[in-house]
Amino acid sequence: MKCRHCNTELRNVFTDLAYSPVSNAMLSREQLNGPESYYPLKIFVCDNCFLVQVDEMEKADKIFDEEYTYFSSFSKSWLQHAKDYVEMMIEKFGFDQKSLVLEIASNDGYLLQYFKGHNVPVLGVDPTANTAREAEKKGVRTIVDFFGSKLAKEYLLENGKRADLIIGNNVLAHVPDINDFVKGMKIALNAGGIITMEFPHLMKLIEECQFDTIYHEHFSYLSFFAVKRIFENQGLEMFDVEEIPTHGGSLRIYAKHKGDTSKAISLRVRDLIQKEKTEGIDTLAYYQGFQARVEKIKYDSLSFLIEEKRKGKKIIGYGAAAKGNTLINYCGIKGTDMIGFVVDASPYKQGKFLPGSHIPVVSKEKIAEHKPDYVIVLPWNLKKEISGQLDYIREWGGKFVIFIPELTIF
Ligand SMILES: [Zn+2]
Repeated sequence: MKCRHCNTELRNVFTDLAYSPVSNAMLSREQLNGPESYYPLKIFVCDNCFLVQVDEMEKADKIFDEEYTYFSSFSKSWLQHAKDYVEMMIEKFGFDQKSLVLEIASNDGYLLQYFKGHNVPVLGVDPTANTAREAEKKGVRTIVDFFGSKLAKEYLLENGKRADLIIGNNVLAHVPDINDFVKGMKIALNAGGIITMEFPHLMKLIEECQFDTIYHEHFSYLSFFAVKRIFENQGLEMFDVEEIPTHGGSLRIYAKHKGDTSKAISLRVRDLIQKEKTEGIDTLAYYQGFQARVEKIKYDSLSFLIEEKRKGKKIIGYGAAAKGNTLINYCGIKGTDMIGFVVDASPYKQGKFLPGSHIPVVSKEKIAEHKPDYVIVLPWNLKKEISGQLDYIREWGGKFVIFIPELTIF
C-alpha cells in the first residue's frame, strides 16, 4: 500500500489493533442472528511525509450510510463549543449577511445554526441523509454528498459563489483521499477567505496512548507537521493554529490562499512546528513503542474486569461511541459477562447492540434500577461531564472507571 499523501510505499507499522467491525455500525436485535463483517485495524506511518494512516480497507460510502447514528446536537458540551467558535469568528473576522459559510461534515446543523442566528448565509455538506434531514429542519441547507474537488467544482462554481469561511470539524481525519479533499477546499474558497479545521492532535494521541480513537472511520491521524505539508501542496498556507481541549486534545488550524497577504502569519505556527519536531514527529523513533503501551492498557483493563467480576461486582459502561467499541473489541470482550450493558443518551442508539461485542445499549434510567458498582466512562474525554451527571451512583457506593491513559477508579 502507498501513502495517501506522497505515494511512498508504507513499510512501518505504528500500531496493530488486530481486527474489528466498523465502530459506528450499531446492530438491531434482528442483526444479532446474522454474520458480521470484521476488518483489519492496522495503522502505518509513512517514512517520507510522516502521515499516520490506516491500511486500505472499507470504502467510505459504506461506513457513512443511512444508519450512521451520530447526532452532534446530543452533546451539550459540543454544542457550547460550536457556539463559542461562531461568536469568536464573527467578532474576529466580521462575517455578515453578504458572506457565505460552508461547513463540511455539517452533521445535524449543530454549528451552522449559530451563524444563521447572526443572519450569515450558510451551506452544509454531509454524506449522511438522516443527519442532513435534521439540519434542514433547522433551516440549514445541506448537500448530501462527500466533499472533494468534484463536488467543489459542480455545486459551488456552478452557483457562482465561493465561501468566505470553510469549516471542517473532525472530518479531515475521516477523509480517504486527503489530497483531493484539500484541493476541493482550495477551489471552493473565496479570495481572502479562511479555512478552519479541527482534528485530534496526533501528539496527544501518542502522549496519552489514546489508541481507542483509532477506528475505521479515521483514515489518518494528524500532526500539524503533516497537515501543513498537505495544505501547502495545494497552494494553501497556515496562518494560525490553536491547541484546544476537545476530543482529548485537538488542533484548530487557520489556512488561507498562499497569495493572500492580508493576514499576518502568527508565531504560533512556527512554535508548534518546533514543538512537534522537538518531540521527534519527523523521525520513525517517535512512533515506535506505542504498541507496547497499547497492550499494557489491554492487560490492565482485563485484569480489573476479571478481578471485580470474580468478586461478584456489577459493571456497566457509559457512552456507546466509537471509542468504546475500539477498546472493547481490542480487549476481546464478547457478550454481557464483563460489561452488563452500556448506557447512552441518544434515543437512536437505545435498543441497539454494540458491534462485535453485542452488548445492549439502554437508557439512563437503567442505572438507578441496576445500581452498578462500577460505571466505565468509555468517552474518557467527557469524564467530567458524565461523572457530574451520574454523581448519584455514589449513593450506593458506585464508582467511575476510565481505562485510558491508564486504569483510574474515582
Ligand atoms: Zn507519505
